[in-house]
Amino acid sequence: MNDATPIAANDRIGDTVLVTGAGGFIGGHLVAVLRDAGHAVRAVDRKPVEEWYQTTPGVDSFQADLSREAACREAVRGVSQIYNLAADMGGMGFIETHKAECMLSVLINTNLLVAARDEGVRRYFFSSSACVYAADKQVSEAVAPLRESDAYPAMPEDGYGWEKLFSERMCRHFAEDYGLVTRVARYHNVYGPNGTFDGGREKAPAAICRKVIEAQMSNNRSIEIWGDGNQTRSFMYIDDCIHGTRTLMDSEVDQPINLGSSELVSINQLVDIVEAIAGVKLRREYKLDAPKGVRGRNSDNALIQKLLGWEPSIPLQTGMERTYRWIYDEMVGAERTKTLVSA
Ligand code: NAD
Repeated sequence: MNDATPIAANDRIGDTVLVTGAGGFIGGHLVAVLRDAGHAVRAVDRKPVEEWYQTTPGVDSFQADLSREAACREAVRGVSQIYNLAADMGGMGFIETHKAECMLSVLINTNLLVAARDEGVRRYFFSSSACVYAADKQVSEAVAPLRESDAYPAMPEDGYGWEKLFSERMCRHFAEDYGLVTRVARYHNVYGPNGTFDGGREKAPAAICRKVIEAQMSNNRSIEIWGDGNQTRSFMYIDDCIHGTRTLMDSEVDQPINLGSSELVSINQLVDIVEAIAGVKLRREYKLDAPKGVRGRNSDNALIQKLLGWEPSIPLQTGMERTYRWIYDEMVGAERTKTLVSA
């Protein structure tokens, strides 16, 4: 954990905290950290518990589809805080081809907000995304970092981004009309161990680690890169994400804020980093018609600095070393199991 800022007082130990999407990447990490901090945690995900990336001992973990109102009411009963991290999502390859599915996540946030209001929940966190930002602000790789005000006039990422922007506004209006305390973070590309690295929902850092490891394992010394590799992004390590999420939840900041790294890199530079960690150099094959997303995207951290006195700071190199090691161990472990089973 990055402990630059202490966790604030609203985070009352003893209250039950609900984490939705707890079988996923960020939710799984958050549950573990909240439990370690002494909270009673209820963890919910649509996936069967055996398929969660992590489960934390001592946590009430169960499967439920939170797009259904009844399931939300049951999950919310008796809790005082909710971190809503459940959504149907993935990297560009997924969100460009599953727009309706992404928009259906609106049911999760809507039903959870209604249940939270009726249950008298004290605080509610919504995980929004940098995909809410207007496309015309992200047309160059030398992009100006995105300020929170750049979300309007609205022209977000089709499907996924519209759902996030709408759900942000639901949070705001539930705060204004019903007094529910809501907090919204706009995450910029989060990466780290215990997340998706194959199957079609993975994002660039995990996908590149996997492709480099596959190239090594198969002795095929080439790597496919989506686009020309000059598109730029910033990537936030999971520990920064969890620290920022908890700090925001416990703060008095009632407007959506960026939660992202401001260390901008091109995809080609990200491949350089992973190659150096792996100790290989691969031939690059650029797939120009693959989903690429916007040309450039970075997080402007002036507001989070001003309001929370903190910003994500774990260097990409450090985070990628940890991520690569985890994916490597997973892939080598899976390969060993396959060999043992077929022997
Ligand atoms: P993830 O896909 O690993 O986790 C999301 C989890 O939500 C999954 O385990 C999924 O099964 C669950 N879920 C989906 N529909 C559900 C339903 N109807 N009921 C219950 N659970 C359901 O994704 P993540 O990376 O952990 O992202 C968590 C949140 O952060 C999401 O809201 C996502 O949109 C947001 N976010 C993530 C990133 C990132 O880079 N990872 C960036 C911006 C925003």
